[in-house]
Amino acid sequence: MELKRFRPAGRGPWGDVPDSDWNDWRWQLKNRITEIGRLQQLLPGLSAEERAGVLLAGQSKLALAITPYFFNLIDPEDPECPIRRQVIPRIEETRTAPWEMSDPVGEDSHSPVPGLVHRYPDRVLMLVTDRCAAYCRYCTRSRLVSNASGYDFHPDFERQIAYVAAHPEIRDVLLSGGDPLLLSDDKLDHLLGRLREIPHVEFVRIGSRIPVFLPQRITPELCARLRRHHPLFISIHTNHPRELTTEVREALGRLADAGVPLGNQSVLLRRVNDSVLVMRALVQKLLLCRVRPYYLYQCDLIQGSAHLRAGVREGLKIMEGLRGHTTGYAVPQYVIDAPGGGGKVPVNPEYVLSRNHDRVVIRNYEGHVFEYPEASDGTPLVLGSGTGRPTLGFVEPLPSPASRQSRYYPKFA
Ligand code: SF4
Repeated sequence: MELKRFRPAGRGPWGDVPDSDWNDWRWQLKNRITEIGRLQQLLPGLSAEERAGVLLAGQSKLALAITPYFFNLIDPEDPECPIRRQVIPRIEETRTAPWEMSDPVGEDSHSPVPGLVHRYPDRVLMLVTDRCAAYCRYCTRSRLVSNASGYDFHPDFERQIAYVAAHPEIRDVLLSGGDPLLLSDDKLDHLLGRLREIPHVEFVRIGSRIPVFLPQRITPELCARLRRHHPLFISIHTNHPRELTTEVREALGRLADAGVPLGNQSVLLRRVNDSVLVMRALVQKLLLCRVRPYYLYQCDLIQGSAHLRAGVREGLKIMEGLRGHTTGYAVPQYVIDAPGGGGKVPVNPEYVLSRNHDRVVIRNYEGHVFEYPEASDGTPLVLGSGTGRPTLGFVEPLPSPASRQSRYYPKFA
């Protein structure tokens, strides 16, 4: 299938750039598209909505930045290109509804130290930078990333580390931002080393979109530094299968070869990935890149994001279209980060149809109904339990009454 094919991003308008520059992540950062003049030159078909959005970006809204590498994934002929929708600002970003928020998941109210969020009992989120290689128009942290809204983000690593050290219940530290992989090798190495010195920190995670926006950053040198700090996990962020190019697959291969377990987080976005076809191709392609799909997020209620938010109904349909229809490893957990700071709430299609005094009625991915016998207190039904059912040591299928003969029953033992 076309969506599952790995392709190189190509050079596009940068055909005359030497390989040594193109493959240098610093060159890519230096040559990002950040303003209207350059963007119009490269993408002459900008719509009026996009032009107006770009003019506001960086003023009061999240800045515009796209690496040349990632820019080449945009189809200039397609105004609805799913890559374009993620990174080109639109005027709709200025339309804010009362239920939208600048801090939709309540991070600031759970922040005992600047840049550190302690919302769950045994883990913390450390925001280490406000910079990213490119900026996603639906970013949950657009209040602080790129510093366009004057958030004045100043993470204090020493205070963050001191907080972690003083809280023995913290066993898991997630570095995020902004993008932690934009820190220099030395700085990252130092930070990871300091955290690993804390005896109760069992492992560290990094959340990063760098392998997707800037695969050139995943150098052998960086991988060699990262492997000093195991167990270290990395969660990448991809939303559409076209983001998984041959360059990204190679970068992810380098991380996997360095022993880093990889997961992926996607955000459900309207006309980007709100279809079973697209999401199935994405999750299957992720496994080919040695990445386990981890979360599918309902888009947070970030201010000015309504044009990008898909409905929960679409999310549930996608989960229905994945579970059972493809490898279990490929199926992420769909979650809504509860608005205001309630944490991630798993959202699943309903597979348990009912619970009775002696059975649980379930349906499978094909819609066939099954019954699982168990007592009302949740214990297995056994001989002598008073139910009269001939079960001993294992659970037998319930007799099928005539009214249920069209149903399917599981085979036990
Ligand atoms: S990479 Fe992550 S932090 Fe940066 S803009 Fe995108 S979603 Fe936000």
